[in-house]
Amino acid sequence: MSSLASLLDRAARGGRLSFDEGVRIYREADLHELGMAAHARRITLHPADTVTYVIDTTIDYTNVCNVHCTFCAFFRPEHHKEGRTLDHDQVIARVKKAADLGATQIMIQGGVNPDLRLTWFEELFDRVRHEFPNVDIHSLSVSEVTGLAKIENLTPRQVLERLKAAGLKSLPGAGAEILVERVRKRISARKVTPAEWLDVMRQAHHLGMPTTATMMYGSIETDEERIEHMHVLRELQDQTGGFTAFIPWFYVPFKTPLRGKEATALEYLRVLAVSRLYLDNFAHLQASWLTPGLKMGQLALFYGCDDMGGVIIEDRVVRDAGANNDATRRDLENVIIGAGFKPVIRDTYWNLRPDMALATA
Ligand code: SF4
Repeated sequence: MSSLASLLDRAARGGRLSFDEGVRIYREADLHELGMAAHARRITLHPADTVTYVIDTTIDYTNVCNVHCTFCAFFRPEHHKEGRTLDHDQVIARVKKAADLGATQIMIQGGVNPDLRLTWFEELFDRVRHEFPNVDIHSLSVSEVTGLAKIENLTPRQVLERLKAAGLKSLPGAGAEILVERVRKRISARKVTPAEWLDVMRQAHHLGMPTTATMMYGSIETDEERIEHMHVLRELQDQTGGFTAFIPWFYVPFKTPLRGKEATALEYLRVLAVSRLYLDNFAHLQASWLTPGLKMGQLALFYGCDDMGGVIIEDRVVRDAGANNDATRRDLENVIIGAGFKPVIRDTYWNLRPDMALATA
């Protein structure tokens, strides 16, 4: 059996870890050594002394959802008195507010609301792309896409084709949680299966729509199941190359039916570092600072992350679960500068935007 040091050395140089080796470094490697290996890999992949971020906003257009995940404090079941859905003008007003602040990306995401038909999204996306040609529509989770497919009696691919024709350019990797059947049965039994989630992503990639991939950890999954999640993503990335980045974020338990404990800071760093090493075919790893906070996000830059994600101008999903971390562009840039890197604005596809002025310039 290889020593831990040789496994870390191999992974730091871009060598592939087997599933068992991934579990082993996750469980047994010293956190600092894990971080050093992940940081070495990150520096090899992105040698410039920069850290990217995107100016974006999340527009939670509806909290009505028929999926009822137990880890979710955001949704309201159909006909609930607190259910709310924005109309197109309200969504457009929020896109305008974000665009006026320099946003190049919007994430229109919400519950799976059976009252909203495919034409509702087609008309909305068509308005957004015509009224805000400089803003990319990076929107809808796999759950929303499959929900639309059911309502319309179409395949997810047909839904994606129609949405793409209306202006959808890429998908966020939301709704993955942990792509292991046992876990999903407990925390999101009515959601798509792991195979279905992966297949919608595969279809999106085949249609030329890049996506991110997320992992929500810290609910009920085991160490092995975290690595299994990374493993199936790595396999799909080998086939399509369509994932732009991996975004692991931890479950916020405070107001959800599932409850439980919040992940620790050390667990956050360990997950990031192992992700960087295990996902050898992912170009980018994002420090999802919205749940652990910006100071932990700064530390993440030494555990494999090269991107700070978005300056999310509004996001209710994690806030409703009890996370309260906000940042302005200046805050985000100062954190990057404080860590010894240069902030650079990017777009959804990781094209650098040196034409866009930094808030700290
Ligand atoms: S996580 Fe998404 S799909 Fe699940 S209940 Fe919440 S809004 Fe619905």
